[in-house]
Amino acid sequence: MKRLIILSGAGLSAESGIPTFRGSNGLWENHKLEDVAYIGSWKKNYDLVHQFYNSRREEVKKAQPNVAHKMIRSWQIKYDTVIFTQNIDDLLEKAGASAIHLHGNIKEMLCTACAYTWNINYDPWVACNRCKCNSRRGVKPNVVFFGENAPNYPKFWKLIDNLLQTDVLLVIGTAGVVIPVNDIVSDFKGISILANLEEEETINSSLFTKTFFGNATKSVTLIDKYLLDLNAITISGS
Ligand code: NAD
Ligand code: ZN
Repeated sequence: MKRLIILSGAGLSAESGIPTFRGSNGLWENHKLEDVAYIGSWKKNYDLVHQFYNSRREEVKKAQPNVAHKMIRSWQIKYDTVIFTQNIDDLLEKAGASAIHLHGNIKEMLCTACAYTWNINYDPWVACNRCKCNSRRGVKPNVVFFGENAPNYPKFWKLIDNLLQTDVLLVIGTAGVVIPVNDIVSDFKGISILANLEEEETINSSLFTKTFFGNATKSVTLIDKYLLDLNAITISGS
Protein backbone atom coordinates (compact mmCIF):
# COMPACT_ATOMS: atom_id res chain seq x y z
CA MET A 1 0.00 0.00 0.00
CA LYS A 2 1.41 3.33 -1.06
CA ARG A 3 -1.10 5.66 0.55
CA LEU A 4 -4.35 5.37 2.49
CA ILE A 5 -6.96 7.87 1.29
CA ILE A 6 -10.00 8.24 3.55
CA LEU A 7 -13.34 9.86 2.75
CA SER A 8 -15.52 10.08 5.84
CA GLY A 9 -19.06 11.29 6.46
CA ALA A 10 -21.64 11.81 9.16
CA GLY A 11 -21.78 8.08 10.04
CA LEU A 12 -18.30 8.32 11.53
CA SER A 13 -19.57 10.64 14.26
CA ALA A 14 -22.97 8.99 14.78
CA GLU A 15 -21.75 6.89 17.69
CA SER A 16 -20.35 10.02 19.33
CA GLY A 17 -23.94 11.28 19.54
CA ILE A 18 -24.00 13.55 16.48
CA PRO A 19 -26.93 12.46 14.30
CA THR A 20 -26.62 11.87 10.54
CA PHE A 21 -29.09 13.26 8.00
CA ARG A 22 -30.29 9.94 6.73
CA GLY A 23 -31.07 8.45 10.11
CA SER A 24 -33.57 11.25 10.66
CA ASN A 25 -35.48 11.11 7.37
CA GLY A 26 -33.51 13.84 5.71
CA LEU A 27 -34.09 16.24 8.56
CA TRP A 28 -31.20 17.70 10.45
CA GLU A 29 -32.20 17.89 14.12
CA ASN A 30 -35.84 18.39 13.10
CA HIS A 31 -35.04 21.10 10.60
CA LYS A 32 -35.45 20.96 6.87
CA LEU A 33 -32.12 21.32 5.11
CA GLU A 34 -33.63 23.98 2.86
CA ASP A 35 -34.17 26.15 5.93
CA VAL A 36 -30.75 25.86 7.53
CA ALA A 37 -28.22 24.80 4.90
CA TYR A 38 -29.05 26.49 1.60
CA ILE A 39 -27.13 29.41 0.21
CA GLY A 40 -30.31 30.76 -1.39
CA SER A 41 -32.33 30.92 1.84
CA TRP A 42 -30.00 31.42 4.80
CA LYS A 43 -30.32 35.18 4.88
CA LYS A 44 -34.10 34.94 4.90
CA ASN A 45 -33.83 32.57 7.89
CA TYR A 46 -30.97 34.47 9.50
CA ASP A 47 -31.94 34.06 13.17
CA LEU A 48 -32.99 30.44 12.75
CA VAL A 49 -29.73 29.58 10.94
CA HIS A 50 -27.67 31.08 13.75
CA GLN A 51 -29.73 29.43 16.50
CA PHE A 52 -29.39 26.13 14.67
CA TYR A 53 -25.59 26.27 14.36
CA ASN A 54 -25.23 27.62 17.90
CA SER A 55 -26.95 24.42 19.05
CA ARG A 56 -24.76 22.29 16.76
CA ARG A 57 -21.67 23.85 18.37
CA GLU A 58 -23.06 22.96 21.82
CA GLU A 59 -23.55 19.41 20.60
CA VAL A 60 -20.04 19.17 19.16
CA LYS A 61 -18.55 20.65 22.33
CA LYS A 62 -19.98 17.77 24.36
CA ALA A 63 -19.14 15.04 21.85
CA GLN A 64 -16.06 12.90 22.27
CA PRO A 65 -14.17 11.06 19.53
CA ASN A 66 -15.13 7.41 19.28
CA VAL A 67 -13.04 4.32 18.58
CA ALA A 68 -13.31 4.94 14.83
CA HIS A 69 -11.89 8.48 15.01
CA LYS A 70 -9.08 7.16 17.19
CA MET A 71 -8.35 4.27 14.84
CA ILE A 72 -8.14 6.68 11.91
CA ARG A 73 -5.66 8.71 13.92
CA SER A 74 -3.58 5.57 14.49
CA TRP A 75 -3.58 4.84 10.74
CA GLN A 76 -2.39 8.36 10.08
CA ILE A 77 0.61 7.66 12.29
CA LYS A 78 1.29 4.25 10.73
CA TYR A 79 0.58 4.85 7.05
CA ASP A 80 0.96 7.66 4.56
CA THR A 81 -2.64 8.82 5.03
CA VAL A 82 -4.77 11.64 3.65
CA ILE A 83 -8.12 12.20 5.37
CA PHE A 84 -10.96 14.05 3.68
CA THR A 85 -14.07 14.52 5.77
CA GLN A 86 -17.50 15.87 4.91
CA ASN A 87 -18.10 16.39 8.62
CA ILE A 88 -18.18 19.84 10.05
CA ASP A 89 -17.47 18.59 13.58
CA ASP A 90 -13.99 18.48 15.13
CA LEU A 91 -13.93 14.89 16.38
CA LEU A 92 -11.08 13.76 14.13
CA GLU A 93 -9.04 16.69 15.45
CA LYS A 94 -10.04 15.87 19.03
CA ALA A 95 -8.65 12.38 18.37
CA GLY A 96 -5.38 13.98 17.20
CA ALA A 97 -5.87 13.39 13.48
CA SER A 98 -5.45 15.99 10.81
CA ALA A 99 -8.20 16.11 8.19
CA ILE A 100 -9.18 18.24 5.22
CA HIS A 101 -12.74 19.46 5.75
CA LEU A 102 -14.66 19.45 2.49
CA HIS A 103 -17.75 21.09 3.92
CA GLY A 104 -16.21 23.50 6.38
CA ASN A 105 -15.84 23.77 10.11
CA ILE A 106 -18.62 24.47 12.57
CA LYS A 107 -16.27 26.38 14.89
CA GLU A 108 -15.52 29.04 12.28
CA MET A 109 -17.53 32.03 11.17
CA LEU A 110 -17.33 33.67 7.75
CA CYS A 111 -18.16 37.27 6.99
CA THR A 112 -19.56 37.32 3.48
CA ALA A 113 -19.08 41.09 3.34
CA CYS A 114 -15.31 41.14 3.86
CA ALA A 115 -14.37 37.42 3.51
CA TYR A 116 -12.85 37.33 6.99
CA THR A 117 -12.99 33.95 8.75
CA TRP A 118 -12.40 33.43 12.43
CA ASN A 119 -12.65 30.79 15.11
CA ILE A 120 -15.33 31.09 17.79
CA ASN A 121 -14.78 27.63 19.23
CA TYR A 122 -18.08 26.43 20.70
CA ASP A 123 -19.50 29.88 21.47
CA PRO A 124 -22.66 31.45 20.04
CA TRP A 125 -22.15 33.39 16.82
CA VAL A 126 -20.96 36.99 16.83
CA ALA A 127 -20.84 39.72 14.20
CA CYS A 128 -17.70 40.42 12.21
CA ASN A 129 -15.44 42.80 14.11
CA ARG A 130 -13.60 43.87 10.97
CA CYS A 131 -16.38 45.50 8.99
CA LYS A 132 -19.17 45.65 11.58
CA CYS A 133 -21.51 44.09 9.05
CA ASN A 134 -23.98 42.80 11.63
CA SER A 135 -26.64 45.20 10.45
CA ARG A 136 -26.24 43.87 6.93
CA ARG A 137 -26.72 40.33 8.16
CA GLY A 138 -23.68 39.02 6.37
CA VAL A 139 -22.12 36.60 8.85
CA LYS A 140 -22.60 32.87 8.41
CA PRO A 141 -21.05 29.75 9.90
CA ASN A 142 -18.07 28.75 7.77
CA VAL A 143 -19.77 25.56 6.64
CA VAL A 144 -20.48 24.90 3.00
CA PHE A 145 -24.18 25.32 2.27
CA PHE A 146 -25.91 23.59 -0.60
CA GLY A 147 -25.34 25.67 -3.71
CA GLU A 148 -22.21 27.25 -2.28
CA ASN A 149 -18.65 26.94 -3.51
CA ALA A 150 -16.62 24.37 -1.55
CA PRO A 151 -13.08 25.75 -1.28
CA ASN A 152 -11.43 22.38 -0.63
CA TYR A 153 -13.03 20.50 -3.53
CA PRO A 154 -10.20 21.30 -5.98
CA LYS A 155 -7.70 19.70 -3.56
CA PHE A 156 -9.93 16.66 -3.20
CA TRP A 157 -10.54 16.20 -6.93
CA LYS A 158 -6.88 16.71 -7.76
CA LEU A 159 -5.96 13.84 -5.49
CA ILE A 160 -8.86 11.65 -6.63
CA ASP A 161 -8.04 12.25 -10.31
CA ASN A 162 -4.45 11.20 -9.64
CA LEU A 163 -5.02 8.12 -7.48
CA LEU A 164 -2.49 5.36 -8.04
CA GLN A 165 -3.21 1.66 -8.31
CA THR A 166 -1.13 1.17 -5.16
CA ASP A 167 -3.39 3.49 -3.13
CA VAL A 168 -6.09 2.20 -0.81
CA LEU A 169 -9.34 4.16 -0.69
CA LEU A 170 -11.54 3.89 2.41
CA VAL A 171 -15.06 5.32 2.29
CA ILE A 172 -16.57 5.40 5.79
CA GLY A 173 -19.91 6.62 7.14
CA THR A 174 -21.18 8.42 4.07
CA ALA A 175 -24.23 7.96 1.88
CA GLY A 176 -22.14 9.12 -1.07
CA VAL A 177 -24.77 11.48 -2.39
CA VAL A 178 -23.07 14.83 -2.06
CA ILE A 179 -19.70 13.40 -3.14
CA PRO A 180 -20.34 10.93 -6.00
CA VAL A 181 -18.71 7.91 -4.42
CA ASN A 182 -19.93 5.43 -7.06
CA ASP A 183 -18.25 7.39 -9.86
CA ILE A 184 -15.01 7.72 -7.92
CA VAL A 185 -14.81 4.03 -7.06
CA SER A 186 -15.71 2.80 -10.54
CA ASP A 187 -12.81 4.80 -11.99
CA PHE A 188 -10.35 3.66 -9.32
CA LYS A 189 -7.99 0.75 -10.06
CA GLY A 190 -6.67 0.14 -6.55
CA ILE A 191 -8.19 -1.44 -3.45
CA SER A 192 -11.37 0.23 -2.24
CA ILE A 193 -13.08 -0.36 1.11
CA LEU A 194 -16.61 0.62 2.13
CA ALA A 195 -17.65 0.84 5.80
CA ASN A 196 -21.26 1.91 6.32
CA LEU A 197 -24.02 0.98 8.72
CA GLU A 198 -25.87 -1.00 6.05
CA GLU A 199 -26.33 -1.55 2.34
CA GLU A 200 -28.12 1.39 0.84
CA GLU A 201 -29.46 2.45 -2.52
CA THR A 202 -27.09 5.36 -2.94
CA ILE A 203 -23.89 3.30 -2.91
CA ASN A 204 -23.16 0.39 -5.23
CA SER A 205 -21.24 -1.83 -2.82
CA SER A 206 -20.32 -4.31 -5.58
CA LEU A 207 -17.89 -1.70 -6.94
CA PHE A 208 -15.76 -2.05 -3.81
CA THR A 209 -12.99 -4.58 -3.21
CA LYS A 210 -14.12 -5.09 0.38
CA THR A 211 -17.18 -4.04 2.36
CA PHE A 212 -17.88 -3.82 6.09
CA PHE A 213 -21.44 -3.23 7.24
CA GLY A 214 -22.26 -2.31 10.83
CA ASN A 215 -21.21 0.34 13.30
CA ALA A 216 -18.04 2.18 12.37
CA THR A 217 -16.58 1.52 15.82
CA LYS A 218 -16.81 -2.23 15.16
CA SER A 219 -15.75 -2.12 11.52
CA VAL A 220 -12.51 -0.24 12.14
CA THR A 221 -10.99 -3.17 14.05
CA LEU A 222 -11.68 -5.44 11.07
CA ILE A 223 -10.38 -2.82 8.65
CA ASP A 224 -7.24 -2.45 10.76
CA LYS A 225 -6.54 -6.15 10.35
CA TYR A 226 -7.35 -5.99 6.64
CA LEU A 227 -4.87 -3.14 6.17
CA LEU A 228 -2.18 -4.99 8.12
CA ASP A 229 -2.63 -8.08 5.95
CA LEU A 230 -2.64 -5.95 2.83
CA ASN A 231 0.53 -4.20 3.86
CA ALA A 232 2.24 -7.49 4.68
CA ILE A 233 1.40 -8.74 1.17
CA THR A 234 2.62 -5.52 -0.44
CA ILE A 235 5.88 -5.55 1.50
CA SER A 236 6.66 -9.22 0.86
CA GLY A 237 5.65 -8.82 -2.80
CA SER A 238 7.80 -5.74 -3.44
P1 NAD B 1 -25.52 11.10 5.54
O1 NAD B 1 -26.22 11.51 6.77
O2 NAD B 1 -26.16 11.41 4.24
O3 NAD B 1 -25.26 9.51 5.57
C1 NAD B 1 -24.76 8.89 6.70
C2 NAD B 1 -24.10 7.59 6.32
O4 NAD B 1 -23.49 7.06 7.47
C3 NAD B 1 -25.05 6.51 5.80
O5 NAD B 1 -24.47 5.97 4.66
C4 NAD B 1 -25.11 5.47 6.92
O6 NAD B 1 -25.12 4.15 6.47
C5 NAD B 1 -23.81 5.70 7.63
N1 NAD B 1 -23.87 5.47 9.07
C6 NAD B 1 -24.79 5.88 9.96
N2 NAD B 1 -24.46 5.48 11.20
C7 NAD B 1 -23.30 4.79 11.09
C8 NAD B 1 -22.45 4.13 12.00
N3 NAD B 1 -22.73 4.07 13.30
N4 NAD B 1 -21.35 3.51 11.51
C9 NAD B 1 -21.05 3.54 10.18
N5 NAD B 1 -21.81 4.17 9.28
C10 NAD B 1 -22.92 4.78 9.72
O7 NAD B 1 -24.09 11.70 5.68
P2 NAD B 1 -23.02 12.22 4.62
O8 NAD B 1 -22.94 11.29 3.46
O9 NAD B 1 -21.79 12.51 5.41
O10 NAD B 1 -23.58 13.59 4.03
C11 NAD B 1 -24.19 14.47 4.83
C12 NAD B 1 -23.69 15.90 4.86
O11 NAD B 1 -24.15 16.29 6.13
C13 NAD B 1 -22.22 16.15 4.89
O12 NAD B 1 -21.95 17.08 3.92
C14 NAD B 1 -21.93 16.78 6.26
O13 NAD B 1 -21.30 18.05 6.14
C15 NAD B 1 -23.26 17.03 6.90
N6 NAD B 1 -23.41 16.52 8.29
C16 NAD B 1 -22.33 16.50 9.09
C17 NAD B 1 -22.41 16.01 10.38
C18 NAD B 1 -21.17 16.03 11.24
O14 NAD B 1 -20.33 16.90 11.04
N7 NAD B 1 -20.97 15.08 12.16
C19 NAD B 1 -23.62 15.48 10.84
C20 NAD B 1 -24.75 15.51 9.99
C21 NAD B 1 -24.60 16.04 8.70
ZN1 ZN C 1 -16.65 41.52 7.82
